[in-house]
Amino acid sequence: MSQILATSKSGLIQEFVISKKKSFMTSTVSFVKCNVCGKGIEDGFSITAKSIQKRTFFFCDMHNN
Ligand SMILES: [Zn+2]
Repeated sequence: MSQILATSKSGLIQEFVISKKKSFMTSTVSFVKCNVCGKGIEDGFSITAKSIQKRTFFFCDMHNN
């Protein structure tokens, strides 16, 4: 049921891609917005969450780099 695809690139950085392509939506993703421009999946963007040293950052397609 999870709409979150998780990949681990290293021990310190975890990436979570939250995509609108997954049909099951929960309220937990509604707060997820790009930290740069404020776009969210509600705006049709896929959001990548990066957990870096216990802090979580969210980036849309445009600002994920
Ligand atoms: Zn953005």
